[in-house]
Amino acid sequence: MTRARNFRRITRSLRFRLTLGYTLFFCLMLIAVGAIFRQKLATSLDAQIRDGLEQEWAAAKGYLRIEKGEKHWYFDHFDPDESFIVGRIQRVYMLADAQGNILEVSETYKSIGPDAPADIAAVMRSPQPGWKVRQNDKGVSFLIHLGAIYDEDHNKQYFLAIGRSLADNHLILEQFTWTYIGLIPLVVVSGCLLGWFLAARALTPVLEVAQAANRISGSNLSLRIPARGAGDELDYLIVTFNRMITRLESSFNQMRQFSTDVSHELRTPITAIRGQLEVALFTATTADQYREAMLNSLQDIERLSQIVRALLLLSQAESGQLALQKTRLDLCELVADVVDQFQIPYEEARLRLTGDLPPECPVEVDRIQIERMISNLLSNAMKFTPAGGEVRVSLRNEPEEVELVIEDTGRGIAPDHLPHIFDRFYRVPGHDASGPERGLGLGLSFVAWIAKAHQGTVRVESTPGKGSRFIVSLPVAPPASQSAEIADIAVASGMKET
Ligand code: ADP
Repeated sequence: MTRARNFRRITRSLRFRLTLGYTLFFCLMLIAVGAIFRQKLATSLDAQIRDGLEQEWAAAKGYLRIEKGEKHWYFDHFDPDESFIVGRIQRVYMLADAQGNILEVSETYKSIGPDAPADIAAVMRSPQPGWKVRQNDKGVSFLIHLGAIYDEDHNKQYFLAIGRSLADNHLILEQFTWTYIGLIPLVVVSGCLLGWFLAARALTPVLEVAQAANRISGSNLSLRIPARGAGDELDYLIVTFNRMITRLESSFNQMRQFSTDVSHELRTPITAIRGQLEVALFTATTADQYREAMLNSLQDIERLSQIVRALLLLSQAESGQLALQKTRLDLCELVADVVDQFQIPYEEARLRLTGDLPPECPVEVDRIQIERMISNLLSNAMKFTPAGGEVRVSLRNEPEEVELVIEDTGRGIAPDHLPHIFDRFYRVPGHDASGPERGLGLGLSFVAWIAKAHQGTVRVESTPGKGSRFIVSLPVAPPASQSAEIADIAVASGMKET
């Protein structure tokens, strides 16, 4: 069972597959090279024999004379070269007249079998000498060069055939083939070993990276895989992996912080409710005392449900479940409306709220969310500006965007806290009132999400003791004709119902 699993593990490993790939490739290359080489060798051996036979044919025509039906070999018997050539021609040789009567035939040619008169007649008809491969009674192949020659008077044709054995060529080819085939296992085994070794070298760093990654868990996300400094693909993988761990670490930390904050936020009102109810249960005697305890508890319960509602909304927003209902509207009008709604509470807080708005600011936004964003910013400004102060709301039309600025003369925010005020549950220590009036620390997280969901941004500038200025940038709406065109295209392509 474990052996089978081990085998499967090995055969599935990249190292095994790389080695198999190398070896197969090696084998195919080897076979292809061998086949090409063998073909070339066969062609060149064949060409050699044909050359030799052509030379012997020319020599035979010079040395062989036929006079009045009699054949004579004219050559210098004392010249070793001429004797050798004639001897060689006569080894595989046949001479016959046009009717197929044999004038002379060598023993070897006899073993091949003299040509039939019909074949001789066919050869005589062709203007050029031809080629044939024939076998003798022992199965040895011969290449035969055969054609017509004339007698001395040039009026009668004779049939001449000379040949050479192909046995040597076949032997050379066979030897080459078997030597080559014998070499293949050697090359395959060394290819396998080399592939296995090279694959191991290439993959060892990958395994090291995997082992290092294995050591990283939720509790030690600060661990990083050390880069090897080779500047190769693997280093790139390590850097990318480390970056991913950094992102994961920051999300983990945020989540951890978030659950700590949520439990802390929920615990405070729950403890208060519990305390009030216990005190009422053990000490209250009159109906008024009970009522007061219940009222206080209700206030805390209200705060609890406020927190839960806000958290739910924020999580819906961040998980993309809160779809924006964008419409084309005039932001100046919308800002003026919200400013109007805040006039009375501002008067009660003895603060001046003024607006500096241009005549028109066309934007395409979700009215409810933008109202919520402005309300959050205005209630913060009211909360953190002492009586007698002033809050100014202004709008600026830029070519690409609309800038909404809410500026107060309040207590401001110290630079240390500025980067965190958009985080969930973040409140500048010492800023806030205690008790039920205490903020949730979620308002600015919403503001940031709403701006981002509208492809906008929000930023803050602040001087402690002097005031703060929140600047929201939103993209301007495309010209009316263009949005109508987009709507038309959407209708035409069936994306939107008419
Ligand atoms: P909260 O519900 O506490 O107002 P927010 O997310 O709206 O939560 O704000 C986060 C913190 O940022 C506030 O607790 C406050 O300390 C600081 N802050 C926000 N707006 C202002 C402002 N206009 N002036 C000074 N501090 C501010």
